[in-house]
Amino acid sequence: MPQQTPDIDRNARATLRGDDWQRGSWRTRPRVQMPDYPDAQALAGVEAQLAKFPPLVFAGEARRLKAQLADVAQGRRFLLQGGDCAESFAEFSADNIRDTFKVMLQMAVVLTWGAQLPVVKVGRMAGQFAKPRSAPTETMEGLELPSYRGDIINGFDFTAEARVPDPARMLQAYTQAAASLNLLRAFSTGGYADIHRVQSWIADFTDGPEAARYRDIADRISDAMAFMQAAGVTSETAHELGTVEFYTSHEALLLEYEEALARIDSTTGLPVAGSGHMLWIGDRTRQVDGAHVEFCRGVQNPVGLKCGPSISTDDLKALIAKLNPQNEAGRLTLIARFGAGTVGDHLPRLIRAVQEEGANVVWSCDPMHGNTIKSASGYKTRPFDSVLREVREFFQVHAAEGTVPGGVHFEMTGRDVTECTGGVRAITDHDLSNRYHTACDPRLNASQSLELAFLVAEELRA
Ligand code: PEP
Ligand code: MN
Repeated sequence: MPQQTPDIDRNARATLRGDDWQRGSWRTRPRVQMPDYPDAQALAGVEAQLAKFPPLVFAGEARRLKAQLADVAQGRRFLLQGGDCAESFAEFSADNIRDTFKVMLQMAVVLTWGAQLPVVKVGRMAGQFAKPRSAPTETMEGLELPSYRGDIINGFDFTAEARVPDPARMLQAYTQAAASLNLLRAFSTGGYADIHRVQSWIADFTDGPEAARYRDIADRISDAMAFMQAAGVTSETAHELGTVEFYTSHEALLLEYEEALARIDSTTGLPVAGSGHMLWIGDRTRQVDGAHVEFCRGVQNPVGLKCGPSISTDDLKALIAKLNPQNEAGRLTLIARFGAGTVGDHLPRLIRAVQEEGANVVWSCDPMHGNTIKSASGYKTRPFDSVLREVREFFQVHAAEGTVPGGVHFEMTGRDVTECTGGVRAITDHDLSNRYHTACDPRLNASQSLELAFLVAEELRA
């Protein structure tokens, strides 16, 4: 076990908090969806190396995001979380990062108009490399091989060699995450994210014949900007207009990587995950006594919890107690992902369970993972209309319960892919093969993402 890191007394300090959590305490809990590395020595070497590397995020940033999420829970901000299902080594490029960032900024401006609230922007970026799978193996033309689990674990190629888990991939993932984050920080503050530019991109989108139906909203945003400019509020006078705050998040699935990047926040003395600002626990790894919940409960970052149809109200109560025992505002985001047509079967019972506990949570809607189907052409896809319908049902249930629909969580890319059907450009089953690039789940493309933001904005204004 790679405990020869300089963290012995850090663990001891964590213990002083009055419980038995340690960075490595997940190792004694049942684990699912994690690889068995064939070479324990190589694994230990990588872990020791990562433990010496700088963390990717600063604990103060995670605390700041948590404070902003506390506002989301109260309906004072709106959360937009989005990005790839899985980042890949092959698709790593400045253009891809820029394009996804650019669409998220446009969506955020449209949602700001819709919600009349500041939008908290969190990318599924700079760390979203590990994937839970529905089966441990895949079979193709009679050959059965271990499933692909994301580039941080094994390779996508359908060969026995590629599918062997390789710990060295963690080092490449760390490097890619560091470079991605560096670029995102540069874009955020270096002038690229100036709201005037973002607004002009939105205007361009709605000038096209396809998106003309959203022009009214775009015009109203332009008017608001022109008014502010006339009143002397510009990027020079108001720093907020020229820069954005952008946070990163990923599923905390590969716990060897998460443990190696966990650090002690020198301000609070508490452990913090250094791999990203926000972590979430997937729908397949949320066992109350399992390894993933054990790791996440001990780090002070904001934590998301995916809630699919199989979560019981008792499970949810136990998970809330474990993940947020102090009922700290902004700590826990419940990400509902039920599927269009079934939100009403599940969300009300979970909202009531949260109310019975008096728990402080953010409610967010992931309308992607409950709406995956196999198209007639054989591709895994998601119909745009189902995605939109789930978001609408989420808002309707919250309106009926008198609770706050805090945000949305999308799998999306800034590239012009053809992975989800529908949208203003009416992608059909037949079109899917044109530009189907995802290594995992189908993503909304740039046009579909922005269109969805317009439709959600209309919903928020309704
Ligand atoms: C995901 O967000 O990519 C994912 C696998 O989601 P879930 O855990 O909700 O299925
Ligand atoms: Mn996914």
